[in-house]
Amino acid sequence: MKSTIEFRKDIVSGDWVLISTDTQKKPVFFKKVESKPLPKSKCPFDDIKKSRQEKILLWIPRPGGKNLKDWWIQIFPNKYPVVASSRICPPLEKCGIHSKKTGVGFQEVIVTRSHEKHFGLMTKSEIELIIEAYQSRFQALSAELCVDYILIIHNHGSRAGATVPHPHSQIFAIPIIPPDVRRSLDGSRKYFQENKKCVHCAILKSELKEKNRIIYQNKHFVVLAPYASRVSYEIRIFPKFHEPRFEAIDQTQRNDLADTLKIILSEIFKTLQNPDYNMFIHTAPPKERNVEHYHWHLEILPRLATWGGLELGAGIDVVKISPEETAKLLRK
Ligand SMILES: [Zn+2]
Ligand SMILES: [Zn+2]
Repeated sequence: MKSTIEFRKDIVSGDWVLISTDTQKKPVFFKKVESKPLPKSKCPFDDIKKSRQEKILLWIPRPGGKNLKDWWIQIFPNKYPVVASSRICPPLEKCGIHSKKTGVGFQEVIVTRSHEKHFGLMTKSEIELIIEAYQSRFQALSAELCVDYILIIHNHGSRAGATVPHPHSQIFAIPIIPPDVRRSLDGSRKYFQENKKCVHCAILKSELKEKNRIIYQNKHFVVLAPYASRVSYEIRIFPKFHEPRFEAIDQTQRNDLADTLKIILSEIFKTLQNPDYNMFIHTAPPKERNVEHYHWHLEILPRLATWGGLELGAGIDVVKISPEETAKLLRK
């Protein structure tokens, strides 16, 4: 059957989906959810040269390291991308009563050296280098003509959708604004127009006063369990200073963000016993103007439960642990 890679727009909700059928060749590294972990000897990310990741986009040595032998991070194009790598901007096409765009974009993999050392076990300086790598690729990809959004995600564990257990993150640069980001931007703009202030700054002010959902804070960042959490143990990290764009953070803020991630990810590793989770950054679209109302942030969603009918049929998330309990448990 002919393969399809296209973004299709839902005519009723206006939400985009990606139909990508060209990934059948992708090897399955997780047999089933509870299967044994992939041994290091079979891992495609342990010897990047062997797995023929020919084009390295960026590499960073480990703290104190000097040459490629001492690599801590390597970034290369995803070998099995869900989008087709192309610099041609896809037009909005009609398909009967529906609309679509060819599924072009860039998909990159950010691999850290150790097979076992995931975020929950890394040092602060190792995490800081990952943030630096995220920022660097974000800046490079935002210069691409057809890129409307850049999504940085880290999937930990098979329940979170990671197909290779070796710690890695992914960057997607795509020609559409993802529905969740669109909703987040629209909600923030609406609040700003009605109240003349940033909704996330207002949330932070109220949360820091109430304190019962705060998990951790340092000079530049706050970690909290959101009031209307979508899953048990949901965590969000906000910069305390108002800033629409993640890529704008400087050295001091990067240092504090590394501290924040170190604290929270090692805490959930210990307290929740290494749960699978998705972590991603929500930031203003690189080319969109008038985004001053937006406040970038990072979300961590542990994947402990399976969605049922109420979630998928009605969009009502059922959360079994209150955000206040989550904060109490993870705050130490
Ligand atoms: Zn590995
Ligand atoms: Zn703000």
